[in-house]
Amino acid sequence: MAVYPESHIYDVLIVGAGPSGSSAAYWLAEAGYDVAVLERKHFPREKTCGDGLTPRAVRQLEDMGVGDALTEAHKYYGLRTCAYGRELELRWPEHPSFPPYGYVITRHDLDMLVAERAVKAGAHLFQETEAIEPIIDTLQPSERISSSRSDIPMQPAQESLPRLLARTSASAMQPAQESLPRLLGIRAKDVKSGQLADFKARYIILAEGTASRISRAIGAKRDKRLPLGMALRGYYRSPRHDDPFIESHLDVRDENGDTLPGYAWIFPLGDGRVNVGVGLITTSGRWKRVNTSNMMDVFISNAPSSWGLRPENSCGPATGGRLPMGLSTVSKCGPNVLLTGDAAGSINPFNGEGISYGYETGRIAAACIGNALCGGGSDALYDYDYRLQAAYGDYYKIGRTFVKMISQPEVMHRCVQLGMHSKPLMEWLLSIMANLLRPDSNAPAELAYKLLAAVARSTPDPEDFTMSLS
Ligand SMILES: Cc1cc2nc3c(=O)[nH]c(=O)nc-3n(C[C@H](O)[C@H](O)[C@H](O)COP(=O)(O)OP(=O)(O)OC[C@H]3O[C@@H](n4cnc5c(N)ncnc54)[C@H](O)[C@@H]3O)c2cc1C
Repeated sequence: MAVYPESHIYDVLIVGAGPSGSSAAYWLAEAGYDVAVLERKHFPREKTCGDGLTPRAVRQLEDMGVGDALTEAHKYYGLRTCAYGRELELRWPEHPSFPPYGYVITRHDLDMLVAERAVKAGAHLFQETEAIEPIIDTLQPSERISSSRSDIPMQPAQESLPRLLARTSASAMQPAQESLPRLLGIRAKDVKSGQLADFKARYIILAEGTASRISRAIGAKRDKRLPLGMALRGYYRSPRHDDPFIESHLDVRDENGDTLPGYAWIFPLGDGRVNVGVGLITTSGRWKRVNTSNMMDVFISNAPSSWGLRPENSCGPATGGRLPMGLSTVSKCGPNVLLTGDAAGSINPFNGEGISYGYETGRIAAACIGNALCGGGSDALYDYDYRLQAAYGDYYKIGRTFVKMISQPEVMHRCVQLGMHSKPLMEWLLSIMANLLRPDSNAPAELAYKLLAAVARSTPDPEDFTMSLS
């Protein structure tokens, strides 16, 4: 039987110990706050994922002091992109803030490392403890005040002065999005015994991933106009398990040979296996009905034979999941509650990457709650939306336009064909799509991005997706 400290009031309670929950827990615990994390599984646990860490994710892990533990994982140096019989090897760009390498590591191992890091910093992790319902404060009590400001270092997008000014003026002029209710805590259940317990806290972070049980219960919604991806992955034993490049195939097709708006990947794990998967954008009409299992079968049967992706090398059936992109959750803040990672819809629409954005949004949420606990109150929490906009607003808006473009097969086909004939063009694209542009550079990729950002700022969002909110 689990022992739950029911009378205790934590500074911060976090639901979910994936990338975003453990990052928030680490930064808050490291700053000295009293933090509890509820996780329904027991580590190590499986999580369906491509297992690919880009330089952005590595930077966050190094900042949390997990860098040394990663040296056991498979290190890689860039992306081999393949389509229409051509292949290009693109190295990660040199960047002042991000390393020129990434890792492939199973979430089974990675999520445990980061959760353990948060515990080492002082967070209390309650495993096999499932959050089942929010305890909503119907009386709306006044804020508790304490003293100085938070010292959790803000990052990740190195806010420039113009961005900061834009954020400040946006913050002053725009009303906050529809607010979530104030919470007193979370009712949870011991998964094994069924024992119930009420966890109470001054501030709460919902880092539940796409499950989003508590987020939905308090009224958070996904904006259905914004991109949603579906992806499927499986493991294979492969002679190329230690390839120094991850590989993506941009000419994925359905069983009828028609081009699909997505890509397939082969990510080498260095332990005898590769992670193989397919992903596509399913937001708009016809792509909603695409069967990702068929898409995977078509890809596997056409994949380069050197990878050895044959049935006898399969390590088990493929599993899949949803990818909520482009900050697609509306209402990410309440007076004492914030949503992070997939619960906030924070996946990058350009490439489906979500781990680094989980770490980053967890860290931004931690900084806002740190400020709230130091006297900033609810205003510090509403600053979260503005900080997310400052870090990702323009970039994700361009990403949404990109998604709209590639959802048209002819456009996708022409762009990929054009790109595959120019390595410099694909190198720029890689910097843009992996969000690794240099803030201090006027190289072609950065100039192209600045132009796109200026256009994005002055135009409305793409609107061809369905219009209703779920
Ligand atoms: C097939 C696939 C491939 C992908 N490949 C990549 C990739 O290669 N690289 C990349 O960067 N991103 C990838 N992603 C995206 C990435 O997996 C997510 O963006 C990332 O896991 C989000 O982290 P998170 O912390 O928000 O949520 P999660 O990782 O989902 O963590 C949520 C945690 O909360 C727990 N939880 C949920 N509900 C409750 C509850 N009620 N009570 C207690 N605990 C609860 C869960 O058990 C889980 O541990 C992929 C996604 C899919 C589906």
